[in-house]
Amino acid sequence: MTSRPVRVRFAPSPTGPLHVGGARTALYNFLYARATGGTFVLRIDDTDRARSTDESLQNILDGMRWLGLDWDEGPTRPGETESASRFGPYFQSLKFDRYREVVLDLRERGRAYPCFATAEEVEEGRQAMARETGVPMYDRRYRTLPRDEADARIAAGEPHVWRFATPLASDGGESKVVVHDAIKGDVEVDLKQIDDWVMLRNDGTPLYNLCSTIDDLDMGITDVVRGEEHFVNAVKQILLFRALEADVPRFAHLPLILGKDGKKLSKRVAQTNLLDYRDQGYPPEAIVNFLTLLGWSFDGEREIFSLAEAVDAFSIDKLGRSGSVFDEDKMIWMCGMYVRATPVEVLVDRVAPFLEAEGVLSKSAIAESRAYVENVVSCHRERFDRYGEVPSKIAFLFADSVEYDAKALKSLRKSPETADWLLAFRDALKDVAVPPSWPDRPPEADALRLPETGDATTSGCGGASSFARPSELEAMARALADRLGIGFGNLVAPLRAALTGAAGGAGLFDIVYLLGRERCVARIDAAIDSLRS
Ligand code: GLU
Repeated sequence: MTSRPVRVRFAPSPTGPLHVGGARTALYNFLYARATGGTFVLRIDDTDRARSTDESLQNILDGMRWLGLDWDEGPTRPGETESASRFGPYFQSLKFDRYREVVLDLRERGRAYPCFATAEEVEEGRQAMARETGVPMYDRRYRTLPRDEADARIAAGEPHVWRFATPLASDGGESKVVVHDAIKGDVEVDLKQIDDWVMLRNDGTPLYNLCSTIDDLDMGITDVVRGEEHFVNAVKQILLFRALEADVPRFAHLPLILGKDGKKLSKRVAQTNLLDYRDQGYPPEAIVNFLTLLGWSFDGEREIFSLAEAVDAFSIDKLGRSGSVFDEDKMIWMCGMYVRATPVEVLVDRVAPFLEAEGVLSKSAIAESRAYVENVVSCHRERFDRYGEVPSKIAFLFADSVEYDAKALKSLRKSPETADWLLAFRDALKDVAVPPSWPDRPPEADALRLPETGDATTSGCGGASSFARPSELEAMARALADRLGIGFGNLVAPLRAALTGAAGGAGLFDIVYLLGRERCVARIDAAIDSLRS
């Protein structure tokens, strides 16, 4: 085997969106290329003209870009013919002449022949072969047709396909082929199992094994890293490489991704369209991290690492053999880990499109109230794992009023004295410097980074703010509960219900601080009204 610099490829067919399995294949190719200083090629296997769409292509390109899997060679936009590279073109649809030329060359090498069998003849032959050898396959009836006769039939316009002439032990050819696979080890395949497969259809369109092999050859691919489902094709491809007297690439077939039930991953478990994760606000870094672990381990222990760290640690011989389990709960847990580790400024950029889309805050409102929004997101970052969850968690802060959910209603109605306690809190607010409500908040109010650290020197505003901090608001509420002779919980549960409409959420006094005086007062009044009506 040669030691050429690594050139690997991800070769999706644009017949549907990029899914989890495809993304993992792309990722491992990317990691392998980056870890070895090699080249990562993106090739578009679009020979199936009827099923290939620009939309799917765009989806695949967007998905790879979203995950940060930049390719070194390949297409950039749908329909674009890439820069003149000695390895391109990277769209199979642009290479039909080349595939045909190779088939004719293979004919000269005795490894390709035209087959004129009708569908009925093919079927009849299959049945006969099944009876004779136990393997239902094309019976090779046109393999020995004299060349001049074949040419005359082609010239006469007779429908035909072009088949590969698989070496036959009876002709003195090899009887077995060993696939050297970096993951599965050496796997011996009996050539009796391999038929004379079709390379070109009657209409001249080329088929996958032909195109894939020629492209791997033309593109100087050193390693074919792809899904387990293509292992069956490796033998045919090896035979083709050999027929063309070309170096056979190394193979690595990635184990299936399994659902938690141990069965092949169903579409229900993993989104069929990777970009659905983007659209639901999964952090892409978490998805990459999660996918990296579907068949590879960082060091046997560490679960959270960046793509760059994975590149440094990656080696192809550490890819695992067993099917990897797709555990959605773990993926979401990882999303949360990334959310928590992302600087709040970046988090707001990530969350902003979701706030806009849900009509919580416009782009300009976010820009104008940036420090406030950062504080809001910061207060809630322990409570969401995906950006898409944020709008529903924080919308109450920007709403004119709130609706009470069942638990909030229960809190509000628990004691006949609730309205009095809320009123007492409302009165007590007069004596503390609660910041004004959004959108009329002075910048000073949001210089304090929430949640409060407790240490004024590290909390963002030092001692500069003249507003009461959340901790002071809480102290006020505790003193009030004492004065009323009630437990603190008796006060804060209905207060939370009144202010947020829900029974749980971020720190209550952070919320009081964020809601500001006018909104707090209005919500307490609304709750008292509803209790008294
Ligand atoms: N176009 C094939 C697929 O999408 C590529 C298989 C291969 O990597 O050889 O599955």
